[in-house]
Amino acid sequence: MKLSTMWKEALGSLVQRPATEKYPFVRQEAPEHLRSKLHWDLEGCTGCSLCAKDCPANAIEIITIDKKAKRFVFHYYVDRCTFCGQCVASCNKDCIELVNNEWELAALDKDNFELYYGNDADVDSVLAEPAEADVEEPITA
Ligand code: SF4
Ligand code: SF4
Repeated sequence: MKLSTMWKEALGSLVQRPATEKYPFVRQEAPEHLRSKLHWDLEGCTGCSLCAKDCPANAIEIITIDKKAKRFVFHYYVDRCTFCGQCVASCNKDCIELVNNEWELAALDKDNFELYYGNDADVDSVLAEPAEADVEEPITA
């Protein structure tokens, strides 16, 4: 490139608007078909676990609290998910959706990458399990 052309382009760019977007101060609407965070709807879920079995990333675990009462907890590993949409296709009850507007998923805390969907009481009982397992039995002589 000639020096004169280079100068012309450099000076021209000084008066042009930036080509980049002013994210995060200015946000564009997400494309309609963008695949972002997965949501699960307990209504209609049969606990069949097809979504978990078909997930190539091992990002779903269906925890059964009470099958007859249809009480399940959907454990979703956001950091494993590749947003492929296989679970959505596999669920014949339409319980899973990849929404298009929750794509800002970066976080400093690893806990943010594990989500539990379900009734509050069921989720609490699942979260309480590891804590209970950590409790050491008293030593008896
Ligand atoms: S979108 Fe793909 S990777 Fe993510 S949970 Fe569903 S099947 Fe697994
Ligand atoms: S495939 Fe659908 S119905 Fe079956 S466990 Fe997953 S979300 Fe529930």
